[in-house]
Amino acid sequence: MRSSDFDLFIIGGGVNGCGIARDAAGRGLSVCLAERNDLASATSSASTKLFHGGLRYLEYFEFRLVRDALIERETLLRAMPHIAWPMRFVLPYHPDMRFDSETPTSRLLTRILPGMKGRRPAWLIRLGLFLYDSLGRCQILPGTERLDLADSPEGQPLQDRFRLAFEYSDCWVEDSRLVVLNARDAAERGARIMVRTEVTSARRMKDHWLIEMVDKDSGQTHSATADMLVNAAGPWAAETVTATIGQGASARLRHVRGSHIVVERLYDHDKCYFLQGSDGRIVFAIPYETDFTLIGTTDVDHADIGERPYCTDEERDYLLAFVNRYFDRQLSAGDVVWTYSGVRPLYDDGAQTAAAATRDYVIEADTDGALLINIFGGKITTYRKLAEHALDEIAAHRPDIAPGWTAGVALPGGDFPVDAFDSQVEALRQRYPFLDIGWARRLARAYGTDAFTLLGDARNAGDLGRDFGARLTQREVDWLVEKEWAREADDILWRRSKLGLRFDSAMVARLSDYMDRQTRRSAAE
Ligand SMILES: Cc1cc2nc3c(=O)[nH]c(=O)nc-3n(C[C@H](O)[C@H](O)[C@H](O)COP(=O)(O)OP(=O)(O)OC[C@H]3O[C@@H](n4cnc5c(N)ncnc54)[C@H](O)[C@@H]3O)c2cc1C
Repeated sequence: MRSSDFDLFIIGGGVNGCGIARDAAGRGLSVCLAERNDLASATSSASTKLFHGGLRYLEYFEFRLVRDALIERETLLRAMPHIAWPMRFVLPYHPDMRFDSETPTSRLLTRILPGMKGRRPAWLIRLGLFLYDSLGRCQILPGTERLDLADSPEGQPLQDRFRLAFEYSDCWVEDSRLVVLNARDAAERGARIMVRTEVTSARRMKDHWLIEMVDKDSGQTHSATADMLVNAAGPWAAETVTATIGQGASARLRHVRGSHIVVERLYDHDKCYFLQGSDGRIVFAIPYETDFTLIGTTDVDHADIGERPYCTDEERDYLLAFVNRYFDRQLSAGDVVWTYSGVRPLYDDGAQTAAAATRDYVIEADTDGALLINIFGGKITTYRKLAEHALDEIAAHRPDIAPGWTAGVALPGGDFPVDAFDSQVEALRQRYPFLDIGWARRLARAYGTDAFTLLGDARNAGDLGRDFGARLTQREVDWLVEKEWAREADDILWRRSKLGLRFDSAMVARLSDYMDRQTRRSAAE
């Protein structure tokens, strides 16, 4: 006889919370997830948006982390060919490139070859990329190549002193859509997803958890019971253990802010640049939302987790100076059209610098009564694996649950072959000839095969209702409200899409007004 409302309650609607909710719901558990703001409103919409092994972590000898993440890239690509795709990274080489002198590789090299002190020689980069290719066991992604920059489109935007580059593969992912699609799949498998719902307290009773919540819109409080609790509160995970769950301090988190800047498109091809600085750090320049280039990131200790992260002028200037050492076109603060910032919830392994702190995750299972699982750290790339590991802990208590299943199952809209994105766009335009190519590509990227369901029987653009600008129609807004938990304009403009880059304040006001009226209408019903 069931006594609790749910088998599993999850605090936090970032990639880890939603990934665990999806996996657990698919294994037959009854699941409830509470997110105090919008889904992906914290770190999971502020990443560099790469499914990557993390080439630079090889310098820290993090071989297992890199190998697991590299292998995982292709599993993820197959499951979401709409929101994730392969990208080539061009790594220009120059003898000035320097290691962070404290990495284990740098120290080892200095010991063996003292003359190399602090230098990152070309042969070492080639060796690292060889290792990256070998650890990754790639079937979809092409391997490393050497590039002569003097004679290639990749060399064109760069300063003349760069003659040689290496090119390797990693993948792009729309991070905030990844979160929402995991939540949607979880909900379709029976999970209850609550947004704007803050967990104010979770107390361990004899054999279950009593969870108190507040609805942030209405101010109403409510409670639920669950057999097991997962704390996936990201940067707030340690605070959740002490303040919300009321237990003694466990693992410690290191809060490391990373900021990005967005400028108008800096070059014409579709590859990224992996730029190495004289300070040993690396920064990416990535084609972004067709007309822009994304540049990031920084690593700055973020002392107060209560303070909302933003890109400081210092970080902006650091990133501008970084890319200005590579490209002919010189950027200044006036070229920056948008910035965003997030806080990495890194497991505190006592590393000296923010850049050196481990990116691996730690799952802590507290079995002293009803099960509690705390999640510390992790990457977007390892979210599915992390969820599987969390479910392994749960399986030790609930041996009746189904085995892992997420490796081969597409996320909503991702049920097409990994190399068939262009045919998806073509099929969409054939069925809906009124879509121009940019519009069709945006819809296919965001919704995959679900774009057909969203557009339904529309025969012309007018059938999709109001156009709020940048081809965002009433039909799409309604879909996002009804199926993807969007409540406010920002949820749509910055997390379900990046149309915020194309909206002016009048357009935002019109969208907000429409969404307010929709929300009031559904509250009255
Ligand atoms: C600058 C930067 C770049 C990065 N780049 C990459 C990359 O390219 N590739 C990669 O793989 N990884 C990357 N990462 C790492 C990755 O983004 C994070 O590891 C991941 O998003 C963490 O997800 P999460 O679910 O643990 O945390 P979050 O996304 O922060 O989610 C935690 C959620 O819990 C909610 N919450 C907290 N307390 C409560 C409460 N009491 N009640 C209800 N809800 C609560 C919060 O509102 C929040 O939404 C990057 C991170 C940063 C900051």
